[in-house]
Amino acid sequence: MVRQQVESRGIFDRRVMEAMRQVPRHLFAPGAPVEACYRDRPVPIGHGQTMSQPYMVALMTELLELRGYERVLDVGCGSGYQAAILSMLARQVFAIERVHPLLQRARRALAEGGFAVQAVSGDGWQGWPEHAPFDRILVAAAASEVPRALCAQLADNGVLVVPVGSGRVQRLVVVRRRGTRLESEAGVACRFVPLVADEEAR
Ligand code: SAH
Repeated sequence: MVRQQVESRGIFDRRVMEAMRQVPRHLFAPGAPVEACYRDRPVPIGHGQTMSQPYMVALMTELLELRGYERVLDVGCGSGYQAAILSMLARQVFAIERVHPLLQRARRALAEGGFAVQAVSGDGWQGWPEHAPFDRILVAAAASEVPRALCAQLADNGVLVVPVGSGRVQRLVVVRRRGTRLESEAGVACRFVPLVADEEAR
């Protein structure tokens, strides 16, 4: 999986590749056939959600430029796979998921694999203010706009990676905080499930 889908497509961060070699992806999709978990595509995890395609996980993780000291927030924890990868590369990982049964399953898989991630149920649009600021924030669902609360929870020199767009295809946006300034850069096209907006909660 790593050689054919990640390395050959221009991911160059060796730490990301090593983490992806070590984390058993099938642990996070217990209902799916093992081979299906290592193919070049997203894997259904129930509740209309998917575990992202390996290449997309690699790309988003690489864009976070993790060095090992970071506190990271994973929004849309889903299966828990992305959070597990982040836990191999950063100091502390916090995760939010709005679908309760998915959260429960992710927690079980993370515990079983020995990955240290604090995962809670909540609305990703709001982030997790009690643990902010975060050095890195990764959103694995498409937002109609860059969530303001997440920018507010970004530490100085922090990086937020979020798919932005309302259609079927979105752009992967990278936002960097420099003091009070936010610089954002739109990158590759991507396709994610929507970051559900609970209008009441926003
Ligand atoms: N990172 C996940 C990808 C899951 S797909 C993985 O590795 O498996 C995106 C997830 O975002 C889904 O589980 C979905 O339920 C969740 N999601 C969507 N809108 C959300 C919101 N507003 N707050 C929190 N989670 C949300």
